[in-house]
Amino acid sequence: MRQAVMHAPGDVRVEDREDPVIIEPTDAIIRLSATCICGSDLWPYRGAEPVEHQVMGHEYVGVVEAIGDEVRTIEVGDFVVGSFWASDNTCEICRAGYQAYCVHRVLMGTIGTQSELARIPLADGTLVATPGMPEPDLIPSLMAASDVLGTGWFAAVAAEAGPGKTVAVVGDGAVGLLGILAAKQLGAERIIAFSRHADRQTLAREFGATDIVEERGENGVAKVKELTDGLGAHSVIEAVGTQEAMMQAIHSTRPGGHVGFVGVSHDVAIPGDELFMAGVHLHGGPAPVRQYLPELIKLIWDRAIDPGKVFDLTLPLDRAAEGYQAMDQRTATKVLLLP
Ligand SMILES: [Zn+2]
Repeated sequence: MRQAVMHAPGDVRVEDREDPVIIEPTDAIIRLSATCICGSDLWPYRGAEPVEHQVMGHEYVGVVEAIGDEVRTIEVGDFVVGSFWASDNTCEICRAGYQAYCVHRVLMGTIGTQSELARIPLADGTLVATPGMPEPDLIPSLMAASDVLGTGWFAAVAAEAGPGKTVAVVGDGAVGLLGILAAKQLGAERIIAFSRHADRQTLAREFGATDIVEERGENGVAKVKELTDGLGAHSVIEAVGTQEAMMQAIHSTRPGGHVGFVGVSHDVAIPGDELFMAGVHLHGGPAPVRQYLPELIKLIWDRAIDPGKVFDLTLPLDRAAEGYQAMDQRTATKVLLLP
């Protein structure tokens, strides 16, 4: 099969690799219908995380080709969506809705799903089958559910977005944009998007943003305060992962409000005195996407939401390197790869 491998920062190649096989009786093998490049894949691409001959990708949708002897709920031929953490969905942590911290979790990035085929561990707990074979135009949206939509959704839930709430969203990448969509679905009254890119502002408004703030950092915070009678937002989504973004999120939140942070944290250190004085709730981390998959698949299947719009470049898998380049140079927000 063909699979993307990052040899070194900036060097992604699609190569011939051994086809995956069933290793554990709880495994499934899927043939990918689509895969994509994540904003978090850019950290090693830019040399901010060590990388050496690493298989890439952790987002996936596809058709089940084989199952292990102990797989019960997934069948060969099913179209499935899964999250970037494989999880048993039965342990105490999973049952509490925190499948990203399953006691048996496996990080899909270690298996790599920018490929034609992939082995999915803990298939019964990890994969959710769609009601049937999707129409081709639904595949990008189902693909988004695998990570960016599920992560944006968790961020909105963690920020307690809901009716009567003003939600501010730091980050206009795919996760931030889908955090807007999630806040809207959860009934938020007003949604403030931080963005300085015209095309992303347009999509933010399409997904439900009511206000756009182009300023960043403390100037951005001042704008949010201005829009909220000096109080700050009830709910703030942090979808970047840098120090500036985290402090912008905390400072944009009113006392008693909630920050949902899902940007993969890089060198973020929150000063204790600022945290103490802010009086806000902080919740975040790797999103338990699996918890939301049944609900998200239904919304997509019923065409109530169209999160696939975040993909603004589609390439064949063999041209993955161009996709990385486009996301690195910000000429694309999110790249869909077709094996
Ligand atoms: Zn578990």
